[in-house]
Amino acid sequence: MSVKDKIILITGASDGIGKTVALEFAKKGAKLILLGSNGSKLSAVYDQLSGVEKDYHLSLECDLSLLNDKSAIEIEAAILEHYGRLDGIIHNAATLKKMTPLIDLETNLWEKILKVNLTSEFIITKTLLNLIVKEENGRVIFTSSNVATQPKAFWGAYAVSKFAVKGMAELFRQELENIHQIKIFNFDPGPSPTSMREIAFPNEDKETLKSLEKLIPCYEWFFSEESNTTNQHYFKFSDFKI
Ligand code: NAP
Repeated sequence: MSVKDKIILITGASDGIGKTVALEFAKKGAKLILLGSNGSKLSAVYDQLSGVEKDYHLSLECDLSLLNDKSAIEIEAAILEHYGRLDGIIHNAATLKKMTPLIDLETNLWEKILKVNLTSEFIITKTLLNLIVKEENGRVIFTSSNVATQPKAFWGAYAVSKFAVKGMAELFRQELENIHQIKIFNFDPGPSPTSMREIAFPNEDKETLKSLEKLIPCYEWFFSEESNTTNQHYFKFSDFKI
């Protein structure tokens, strides 16, 4: 089970879970394309990455709320120029913004959240798919949440987006896994100590949550040959005996 030399795009790599996956995967020899909207946070992560050669990794500053077909093609071009190929995507970036009743959620925030959490993943997946299907064990990993399966008041457009991502991941799976050697997974990392979690649970003691590093074996398994034969496609952290 190794991610060594795998070329993986991680969205939301500047913070939280995506940052930890980036730092740990880099230690294991993966070549990473880090994507986030905050350039200085992204540079700070880039500077911490292990990588023996100059330009081993690639950093792409991109606000996913503004992504369109053209900018996705520019991302593809940057990956092609830097690496010439791509093994997979971890669609990890997401925004919650705030907890609020739906009737109080501003329409512009609704649109922004759906753009970042859902539409950008659709655009990036369809644009980069041609690269991923050329690889032997191509992967697209979507990120879920318990609010994708159990509606919860006040989770707003974030919950709606995660419901929709669950459906979209399933459609991609049905349409692609039969004709390409690719696996499409959707993973709910469970309660994890990040800035997003703090918005939802400001008074929670972070010490009661698992460390972000505990998620790494899950992501490694998704990219392993071992996961080629599984029929399961929706996973929760608790499915892994960690
Ligand atoms: P986080 O710490 O808030 O990090 C979110 C990441 O998404 C950041 O790197 C942020 O980068 C990026 N992002 C947000 N808006 C963006 C935009 N407009 N354009 C580009 N990147 C953007 O969140 P997290 O808790 O690690 O969450 C990671 C994933 O896990 C999410 O999909 C979340 O839904 C899921 N999840 C988390 C938990 C939990 O308990 N933490 C539980 C279940 C599921 P910038 O700041 O650079 O924009």
